[in-house]
Amino acid sequence: MKIYNDMKIWMISGSQHLYGEETLAQVRFHTKEIAEYLNGSKLIPAAVEYKGIVTTPAEVTDFCVKASADESCGGVILWMHTFSPSKMWINGLSVMTKPILHLHTQFNRDIPWDEIDMDFMNLNQSAHGGREHGYINSRMKIERKVVVGYWKDEEIHHRIDAWVRAAAAVKELTGAKVARFGDNMRDVAVTEGDKIAAQIAFGYDVYGYGLAELAAKVDAVNEKRVDSLVKEYETAYTVDSALLAGGSEHDALREAARLEAGLEDFLTEGEFIAFTTTFEDLAGLAQLPGLACQRLMEKGWGFGAEGDWKTAVLVRAMKVMGHGMSGGISFMEDYTYQFDPERQLVMGSHMLEVCPTIAGSADVKLEIHPLGIGGKDDPVRMVFDVPAGPSLNASLIDLGSRFRLIINEVETVDAGHELPKLPVARALWMPKPDLATAAAAWIYAGGAHHTGYSKDVTTEMLSDYAEISGIETVIIDSDTTIRELKKELRWNDLYFTMKAFSGGV
Ligand code: MN
Repeated sequence: MKIYNDMKIWMISGSQHLYGEETLAQVRFHTKEIAEYLNGSKLIPAAVEYKGIVTTPAEVTDFCVKASADESCGGVILWMHTFSPSKMWINGLSVMTKPILHLHTQFNRDIPWDEIDMDFMNLNQSAHGGREHGYINSRMKIERKVVVGYWKDEEIHHRIDAWVRAAAAVKELTGAKVARFGDNMRDVAVTEGDKIAAQIAFGYDVYGYGLAELAAKVDAVNEKRVDSLVKEYETAYTVDSALLAGGSEHDALREAARLEAGLEDFLTEGEFIAFTTTFEDLAGLAQLPGLACQRLMEKGWGFGAEGDWKTAVLVRAMKVMGHGMSGGISFMEDYTYQFDPERQLVMGSHMLEVCPTIAGSADVKLEIHPLGIGGKDDPVRMVFDVPAGPSLNASLIDLGSRFRLIINEVETVDAGHELPKLPVARALWMPKPDLATAAAAWIYAGGAHHTGYSKDVTTEMLSDYAEISGIETVIIDSDTTIRELKKELRWNDLYFTMKAFSGGV
């Protein structure tokens, strides 16, 4: 993914001149070695660049200004190998705009019991240097991720990996464009939101389009292009015989291919990262784009149905975070429940638009079925079951004064049934800690029916992403109780209201 090739993480360490040049030379040497080690880690998906050490207020400020202004810098890793008095950092941190990871590590893993002397203590004092650094960040209310441990430990690399992925998503959205075909599904509340507030919080701009412009792109697709897409479908999926050449519905498949090509042209030419459709505004299109949305999600675009631009962007952000992983990411909707006390489940699906990246090795069938909603021709869609495994759902809502990201960890399970009459892709999951608690918690938190669903993206990545973006996170997992969650929601309300009041948002 281009963003990971373009993005650099800058690493420095903070120090001071108290210890003499010899010590500073070692600080430089050690910082370089750690940066290079992290850069070489297969667990960290972006380049980590050594950027020297800072020992004076001017050097700190210079570093922060340069990192903030540099297009390729996606975030900074700060390490306090020695003590670095934090008043030196105030001016720099106050202008820093890039995500910060405070790596609280130590060059040596073990205390050299027989050799340790005061020279060693002066060099290897991150245990208190990191605390001085933590204080000023906390005092200045700076969001950052603190990662503690020995720098060669894989566990540390996993923590950094999650943050790098979150930083990549943040970078991806900054200056990004979203295409919205038609408006919101009429009367629906949760999919609405303040686009200006979203741009301030996340950096992306939502562009609205009438359907005529999309229809013109679709009409301009030539037959050769349609032929080649149809061939691609036949190779990649199990295509229903009625849709094959000579079949009664072959024209519908060609129309679906035309929709895909037209949409893709529109999104590519306009450099959009995500898009929405709505069944209430399909003027000029023959079908509700089902297969087209599935295919474009598969190619990496974010998607939200019924005009849901917040979820469309969230799906794209999650696709960036899940880069290079195998479990996939999709637009999703909580649909129906299994209330059997022995096995309480949620079935997730959508009218059509579920991304086949979450199908794993499952058979993906291309089928055509009637769709009552939307009043158009029968749409073509991919139908599949989602394989079992740990997963999560995330929802971004606009509370009027702030955004809240709600995350529910779930366990996707096999249905154990064929579901022969269900004409859509579907996933079945057991939410954590249990269906009753999770659904109540989700509803108390105001979470939407639309979500981003993934087997790759973790709670840690999403929390890091929310913290970098300065928004609220509500996590529903195996530790959740309703009593504590209700308190958390009330406290968060107070915190974010005060933060906004003090000009902090
Ligand atoms: Mn929906």
